[in-house]
Amino acid sequence: MLEKDRIAYFYDGDVGNVYFGPNHPMKPHRLCMTHHLVLSYELHKKMEIYRPHKAYPTELAQFHSADYVEFLHRITPDTQHLYENELRRYNLGEDCPVFDNLFEFCQIYAGGTLDAARRLNHKTCDIAINWAGGLHHAKKCEASGFCYINDLVLGILELLKYHARVLYIDIDVHHGDGVEEAFYFTDRVMTVSFHKYGDFFFPGTGDIKDIGEREGKYYAINIPLKDGIDDSCFTRLFKTVIAKVVETYLPGAIVLQCGADSLARDRLGCFNLSIEGHAECVKFVKKFNIPLLVTGGGGYTKENVARCWAVETGVLLDTELPNEIPDNEYIKYFAPDYTLKVSNLNMDNLNSKSYLSSIKVQVMESLRAIQHAPGVQMQEVPPDFYIPDFDEDELDPDERVDQHTQDKQIHRDDEYYEGDNDNDHEDGAR
Ligand SMILES: [Zn+2]
Repeated sequence: MLEKDRIAYFYDGDVGNVYFGPNHPMKPHRLCMTHHLVLSYELHKKMEIYRPHKAYPTELAQFHSADYVEFLHRITPDTQHLYENELRRYNLGEDCPVFDNLFEFCQIYAGGTLDAARRLNHKTCDIAINWAGGLHHAKKCEASGFCYINDLVLGILELLKYHARVLYIDIDVHHGDGVEEAFYFTDRVMTVSFHKYGDFFFPGTGDIKDIGEREGKYYAINIPLKDGIDDSCFTRLFKTVIAKVVETYLPGAIVLQCGADSLARDRLGCFNLSIEGHAECVKFVKKFNIPLLVTGGGGYTKENVARCWAVETGVLLDTELPNEIPDNEYIKYFAPDYTLKVSNLNMDNLNSKSYLSSIKVQVMESLRAIQHAPGVQMQEVPPDFYIPDFDEDELDPDERVDQHTQDKQIHRDDEYYEGDNDNDHEDGAR
């Protein structure tokens, strides 16, 4: 008899109450809408629901610089006028505004991804879901693209304590630049991002030629796409690439960022995926039966974001959801049809067959290079590891490596704690 997957789902209602501002496209309320759809379809009865811990500043500083974390902790809408230089330095303001409870918001979504990774590490679940997470643009020392803390990098660092190789897959319409950058020089994480590229589309990175460097060469994969890609082109390319990646890389865990701005009709997006097409990718990744951490990400037409992530929660639970949305507190948002399905748009697909096949050929070539090179493939978890820094461009590459090996050794946390990490409460950031 097949055993059912054990699913852990993380949610804190407080995350949906913050407000980025009247004209800002990011609406955290979409997370409440998602959760209420999940409840109305009674999916909560099929999984374990947890309220995540609020990540401590010391946990956030496992990737981010301590001064940046401290500033996020300290800044408020009322005091920000006193810190113009810092706001500029940390890229806070327009896209990444300072709003009430900003830091708590970061603590919750990052805490969810960290808790998810720890449950996977401890094998207390097979799949962990944190729709509030997936903020893939945040950098070590600055905010970017509506993202402040990069929970994905933190979650992957946590998984690396127990797994020799972690695969990161990103189907947000935007390039997963923050995650790629964090692991660009290491073969212990392979990043694969499918995104719109060109026409100055944010963030502007993610060329197919960017494949990683040094130890990380060939361990970053970019799939740059043009406007209007449809379900059949996208899912065919996704399955071909991901099947080969998993076969070649043999990851111990997978992190899947399910940004819903790749759906048709997204306020900021330009792809033409239906929810079924988007969810097909989730279904495909689930079939590998590898410990899986699933997060949200972008998504700016909020009723469709909620639909998409509810359907994908169903996919992860092997539960197909009836198209008619059951009555719930948020039902009015799904007018006039009150259904889950969203049709594709009648729009041109600017990705020609020859363009897509040339991308496929280049990615396959890159993967062949890995197969023929000795690497971490069959190794157990290395005793320790480091994450290269990227803000030291003034150093020549050799010096940079020296500095890393000296300063950036992060030792494996063999004495894993749960409930006795009181020291971490004292963050000293005021
Ligand atoms: Zn996005």
